[in-house]
Amino acid sequence: MKTIVGDSAGICTIAQRVINRALEEAKKGPVFCLGEIVHNRNVTDSLKKNGVCFINTLEEAKGKTIIGAHGVTKEIYEKAEKMNFDLIDLTCPMILKIHKKVDEYSKNGFFIIIIGKANHAEILEIKSIVGKECKNIENKSEIPELLKIINDKKKILLISQTTYSSKKFDEIAEELKRHINSDTLLEINKTICPTTEIRQKETIKIAKEVDAMIIVGDKKSSNTTELYNTACKYCKNTQFVCSADELNFSLIMDNSKIGIMGGASTPKEDILRVKKKLEEKS
Ligand code: SF4
Repeated sequence: MKTIVGDSAGICTIAQRVINRALEEAKKGPVFCLGEIVHNRNVTDSLKKNGVCFINTLEEAKGKTIIGAHGVTKEIYEKAEKMNFDLIDLTCPMILKIHKKVDEYSKNGFFIIIIGKANHAEILEIKSIVGKECKNIENKSEIPELLKIINDKKKILLISQTTYSSKKFDEIAEELKRHINSDTLLEINKTICPTTEIRQKETIKIAKEVDAMIIVGDKKSSNTTELYNTACKYCKNTQFVCSADELNFSLIMDNSKIGIMGGASTPKEDILRVKKKLEEKS
């Protein structure tokens, strides 16, 4: 058996920095984290063991409170300010840049179209900044409905969730350009994070050359799920596992060539454990 681990597989530098900071703060005293720090249950479990307390509302915090890589809505910032909270804001700079951009564009009369998962933190945050003058779509199939909503809009900004599929974003942008009113200004800003794009490209490259693909990460992670969907298109024999224990060996032949990729929230150790277990079985 031969295994190929993608060079870009695994946790991004920003998510790693957030985890390291949470661990540092936990050593100093009680620390709370509002929502998940990154979307990976192995990371969350390990942080809990090290003293980080996860909460769902600000009211539950009894001390220093971390905002994780995905950020929070405008309402939470406002509430924290009113309550005079000791916040440690570790929101990814890429996401903060998008917040700033939509705020500026919205104030300049632009209608904002955001491509991404409706209930994802990033989408909820953008909506909290922009208010009513925005619409979120997840897929190309929603474009006919969207065109009815934006029919009278004169200035539109198209952006996306940082972890959306690069290929699908391009398809939606092209379709919109074709159908939008000729007197409407459409500004396209592909706000997909560079590390996400690199992972997506590498997943395609590896999936094309192997007999089986293993995507390592949590199913709650958007970018990892996107990698799984991408891999499935190029390699029918693809598995999505959170840890090495979930590997299904009945789908893997002894002499197979196996590709391994992990999302931006997947610890490198989880990827290496999958590689080791596969190699031990061969
Ligand atoms: S995947 Fe991209 S957007 Fe998400 S935390 Fe990492 S660098 Fe930031």
